[in-house]
Amino acid sequence: KPIVIAIDGHSSTGKSTVAKKLAKELQYKYVDTGAMYRAVTLFAMRNNWLQNAEVDESKLVENLPSIEINFEYNPEAGTNDVILNGENVENEIRAMEVSENVSSVAKIDKVREKLVQTQKQLGEEKGIVMDGRDIGTVVFPNAELKIFMTASADIRAQRRYNELKEKGEDITFEEILKNVKHRDHIDTNRENSPLIQAEDAIKIDNSHLSQEEQFETIMHLVRE
Ligand code: C5P
Repeated sequence: KPIVIAIDGHSSTGKSTVAKKLAKELQYKYVDTGAMYRAVTLFAMRNNWLQNAEVDESKLVENLPSIEINFEYNPEAGTNDVILNGENVENEIRAMEVSENVSSVAKIDKVREKLVQTQKQLGEEKGIVMDGRDIGTVVFPNAELKIFMTASADIRAQRRYNELKEKGEDITFEEILKNVKHRDHIDTNRENSPLIQAEDAIKIDNSHLSQEEQFETIMHLVRE
């Protein structure tokens, strides 16, 4: 019987990597909620409502109705791309500048309200893997399986560094470490839906686990 799998955790813990793999194996839908917050951030940046992580909140909130976020299957990648008002922004939302601003946008109540509503709709049909920060606590408090992923900040930054270097981004390890810690701080301390482990979530510290081991651990829980 198809279930809802909620995967939450700190930044750059490899949530989306394992979530995608699970969705593929189980033939479930995969939803990357971080991508949705990133798309809203990109929208604000393009309109110059965001400077140095300072958001013009009233402008953004006023214009929220004109933001439409969808997902579209990308056969090459074998996963979903994010579509912002009809435009594929999957690559652009991964840029460092977006990462630096996204947590400031994600703490705006009205932004969360809008995206959480969309996320709930996406989960109406079971057989879904969703990753984010508040999936097990807010979006799907009744999810059949909740995972909370974590790893040391150094290890997370190192993985992220390797990834961005591979893409040719000009960035230092220190910059990434700072960003990872900064996002954790804002995400954990915001008033609305802070990043916390749901009571019934299973914690996986993957500091010393391979992707395969993480996948197997969760698959084991799914089969139980
Ligand atoms: O998952 P990802 O790192 O792409 O998420 C980017 C940012 O979006 C997070 O640092 C967090 O501020 C925000 N986010 C959130 N709630 C979610 C998913 C992401 O606040 N469910």
